[in-house]
Amino acid sequence: MEKIKMTTPLVEMDGDEMTRILWKMIKDELLLPFVDLKTEYYDLGLACRNETDDQVTIDSANATKKYGVAVKCATITPNAARMSEYDLKEMWKSPNGTIRAILDGTVFRTPIKVKGIEPCVKNWEMPITIARHAYGDVYKNVEIKVPGAGKAELVFTGEDGTQIRETVFDFEGPGIIQGQHNVNASIESFARSCFTYALDCKQELWFATKDTISKQYDHSFKDIFQEIFDKEYKEKFDAAGITYFYTLIDDAVARVMKSKGGFIWACKNYDGDVMSDMISSAFGSLAMMTSVLVSPEGYYEYEAAHGTVQRHYYKHLNGEETSTNSVATIFAWTGALRKRGEMDGLTELTAFADHLEKACIDTIESGKMTKDLALITELEHPTVLNSEGFIKEIRKALEQIYR
Ligand code: NAP
Ligand code: MG
Repeated sequence: MEKIKMTTPLVEMDGDEMTRILWKMIKDELLLPFVDLKTEYYDLGLACRNETDDQVTIDSANATKKYGVAVKCATITPNAARMSEYDLKEMWKSPNGTIRAILDGTVFRTPIKVKGIEPCVKNWEMPITIARHAYGDVYKNVEIKVPGAGKAELVFTGEDGTQIRETVFDFEGPGIIQGQHNVNASIESFARSCFTYALDCKQELWFATKDTISKQYDHSFKDIFQEIFDKEYKEKFDAAGITYFYTLIDDAVARVMKSKGGFIWACKNYDGDVMSDMISSAFGSLAMMTSVLVSPEGYYEYEAAHGTVQRHYYKHLNGEETSTNSVATIFAWTGALRKRGEMDGLTELTAFADHLEKACIDTIESGKMTKDLALITELEHPTVLNSEGFIKEIRKALEQIYR
């Protein structure tokens, strides 16, 4: 077959450990034989980040602003053990954090559904996407252990010296207090990312907070979302036939459990932290979860939700066989290729993304899978494949489609 053409490059961010091994296999077996792949390559592997004083991460994020779409392999976030393992000059920051700070985006995580790996919640027929606000609240809080009786106050001092003051509590004995903040600009870009993404997937958007109790703080989130929606997105939502709806967080949780899925659930920072773990484990596995960073300007960075699968990598280095699931990393590529195809009007490229995803799903549904899935599948007698064998089976399924 003639290879599928691309016009604009994707930003390719290579990574670490087992996922770096899978990255190359995916390119060699599933992409290069079919697509005339155009990428601008950035090596975000820890060795290269160290060599370039992490400039490569910054360059890759800036390239994403230039081209609009990136695909990223999982990367090591260094800790003390990594300092000596990789002989690092510095404990470099998390690349995801650096990229998110430059693109100012929101992360959307969606489970990949296949027959045979069923969600614990039986009525979830379609995936539920979690959008988590990634700034402020309890993650940037200030806390005091109150030693004894006294008055706790909340004071804001403006640049001109004027003060706003509220009593938090008159303590009669020991206790605890906590101060939280958020900034309108961050909430606004969170809202825009959510509305943009909902239009993109043509899915309903839910947002929930506890505004009945938190009449200033949570209510501001509600108001900012509604204002931006009415001004900038309402007409587009109407045209796309989708809706935005706000409700209380407890009502949202109850509705989610009774729902069929197939919507985006925007959450404040803490709710998103907790609810995304619930959703991903209820749907089956982190290895079957996609993740995309969407900036308010509409730049996209696709990746897998899991890490570098270090334990498998050490087995691989020891010459032992591994059975690492490559689906989430493959879906990072298909997400990026589909988006590139949509932006550049390349229907064959978008179709390729669909076909490659179908090849993955068909392979698993026919009973061929990696060990992590074999452990949780409802299919009887699954065939457990090694990392490479699984990718080769997907290749066969893809060749059937392109025969
Ligand atoms: P991890 O790489 O997600 O792996 C944790 C465990 O989950 C694995 O040991 C494995 O369980 C299972 N698992 C995850 N992905 C799998 C897959 N594709 N196929 C099969 N099993 C899979 O998390 P980690 O071990 O905590 O972190 C390793 C490194 O990744 C760290 O350096 C961390 O900084 C980095 N990290 C990067 C990102 C990112 O780049 N987005 C995200 C998270 C973590 P078994 O061992 O039981 O088989
Ligand atoms: Mg968590």
